[in-house]
Amino acid sequence: MERSTIVRVHEGLHARPATRFVKLAKSFESEIEIAKAGKGVSAKSSVKLMLLGVKENDTVTVRAEGADAIEALEALIGYLENPHSGLEDTAVAPAVVTEPAPVEVKAPVAGSNELDDAGFIKGIAASEGVAIGTAYPFFPPEITAGNRNLKPDEIPAELIRFHEAVARVQQRMDAELKTDNLAESDRGIIVALKDIAADDTLLEEATGLIKGGMDALSAMLGASAAVARQFSEIDDPYLNARADDVQAVGRQICLALLGQEDISLESLPDGAILIAEDIGAWDFARAPLKKIGAIVCGHGGATSHVAIIARTHGIPAVLGLGKAVHDLRDVKQIAVDGSKGRVVPEPDEAVCADFKNRIAAAQAEKQALEAYRTMIPQRADGTVIEVAANLGALEEFEVAQAAGAMGVGLFRTELLFMKHMHLPSEDMQTETYTALLKAFAPHSVIVRTLDIGGDKPIAGIEFPQEENPFLGWRGIRMCLDRPDIFKPQLRALLRSAVHGNLKVMLPMISDVEEIRATKALIETCRQELVSEGKPCGNFDLGVMIETPAAVFAAHQLAQEAAFFSIGTNDLTQYVMAADRLNPTVARLNDVSHPAVMAAIEMTAKAAVQAGIMVGMCGEAAARPDLISEFIRMGLTELSMSPASIPRAKKLISELK
Ligand code: PEP
Ligand code: MG
Repeated sequence: MERSTIVRVHEGLHARPATRFVKLAKSFESEIEIAKAGKGVSAKSSVKLMLLGVKENDTVTVRAEGADAIEALEALIGYLENPHSGLEDTAVAPAVVTEPAPVEVKAPVAGSNELDDAGFIKGIAASEGVAIGTAYPFFPPEITAGNRNLKPDEIPAELIRFHEAVARVQQRMDAELKTDNLAESDRGIIVALKDIAADDTLLEEATGLIKGGMDALSAMLGASAAVARQFSEIDDPYLNARADDVQAVGRQICLALLGQEDISLESLPDGAILIAEDIGAWDFARAPLKKIGAIVCGHGGATSHVAIIARTHGIPAVLGLGKAVHDLRDVKQIAVDGSKGRVVPEPDEAVCADFKNRIAAAQAEKQALEAYRTMIPQRADGTVIEVAANLGALEEFEVAQAAGAMGVGLFRTELLFMKHMHLPSEDMQTETYTALLKAFAPHSVIVRTLDIGGDKPIAGIEFPQEENPFLGWRGIRMCLDRPDIFKPQLRALLRSAVHGNLKVMLPMISDVEEIRATKALIETCRQELVSEGKPCGNFDLGVMIETPAAVFAAHQLAQEAAFFSIGTNDLTQYVMAADRLNPTVARLNDVSHPAVMAAIEMTAKAAVQAGIMVGMCGEAAARPDLISEFIRMGLTELSMSPASIPRAKKLISELK
């Protein structure tokens, strides 16, 4: 027997709603199939169901054959017709885990990695401060296929070995789920992965290859790549993100076959110095930041996201070591100077004494700055200079408040997307922005709309291979092309605007039409929300000035934008034509270069003339040697890593 219906489940049968649907189907004895557009799959396989790509408003047919077919149809059709199915206990779809991407190590700066006279290895000073501690090497193992051809009599034993590895992974996931202190979001991730590890689709694909004579490791790598590809080809960002789930499960099974386990940052000892080629957003988001003494990476530069997160949390960091980072794999003790961009493996007594003195001096400076934390800095003419915080996650608000932030000058929403490695729903975004606004009221919170692409790809969005990603499909360019991703964010911003002092800014603007198109989309979202009876508020819409085009068109942009915020991290790389992540050209990535300073001054003049606020949220906003210059140019807001706020307030208050 069968019944057809229109799917009303909010955002369709992706991830959690699909998992719940399968769980419900499995509670019946009947054989159950769900079909869309003539294609039917077992309703008891979450992978097959997700690959069917059932979206909200699709017409589907459910077929059931067996003793409890009537009850099964009743329950499953009811589920499909309920918009809140699968989302009852959380607005957040389960996150996915990405396989640590194979890391491409950039060529080191010629000669710059050699030990200098004092025994230092040079890198890029990415987050100030010094630390000494036990090294914690974080180099997740890379898995390569053996491509061994099995003899026919080897196949049965290989199949047993494969099933045993799968069982070990499932048991480990079960054990993790029983852990008491597991955060709800992590539980969601493990449940989603466990479902895939138990699903026929992936396992059948792998066993089929083994039966054809392929060794289990190669078969598992091949099977996960094949199933992941199917997910990434579906025209739905939520389902695209499942490709990473499949790869993550495949990786775990492969490691089990090799008798290895992935290293995790969770077991990092207190005060340890993290040494890695790179730290992906996923690993970083789960890392116990309070325990990290310092960070040393082969990859990255002063404005890469590892650097930004390190600065927010006051963790000293030296990045861009290139291949030299591999020489540190077996080091026991390490001293890190994040201010000068140097690391010392196995420091001797003299180096230890020097570092300890500097740690004590930094603590003394911190105490001396304490008095400036709560002050409201003013220019000589009485104009208040807002010293605000750059944040990447809601959880950072306490660090910012403790540092004396006068609001948020940049909330990087892409980290919200990267952290969960899936697209956060409109409800989840609304909750986050609302919580942030409430935490900082009456100060303003400037939320930047999604800025991905370039160095910041995320799961769930297929990015084309680009010759020059930094000149490609990123920031506002991508958002305007993808209203399916942009509109939920704009709707969430409109909904949260009723709860505080919200401002919104657009990244990577290079043309005034981009502002106009966004305004039109905001109006569409507003009308939709009004017709749905949902409360929605207003916000000022500003733009980031981070391309030379925006600088040259600043007068025109100022007619459409409510404020400017200068993004010096990108502006410097575009003005100087020097990749912000490439250590080889780090010398050119200098805000104080006359060309960049002239661009900042032009921007400030245009804003002052048009009577709109101009601020800065690039890392240069905290530069002690430039702050007075920025204020002289007319900037009235400087937004920076929380740790830099007290010192900036002190400097401003001392200006004549
Ligand atoms: C900038 O470019 O200066 C900026 C603040 O944005 P991001 O570093 O996130 O690109
Ligand atoms: Mg930028």
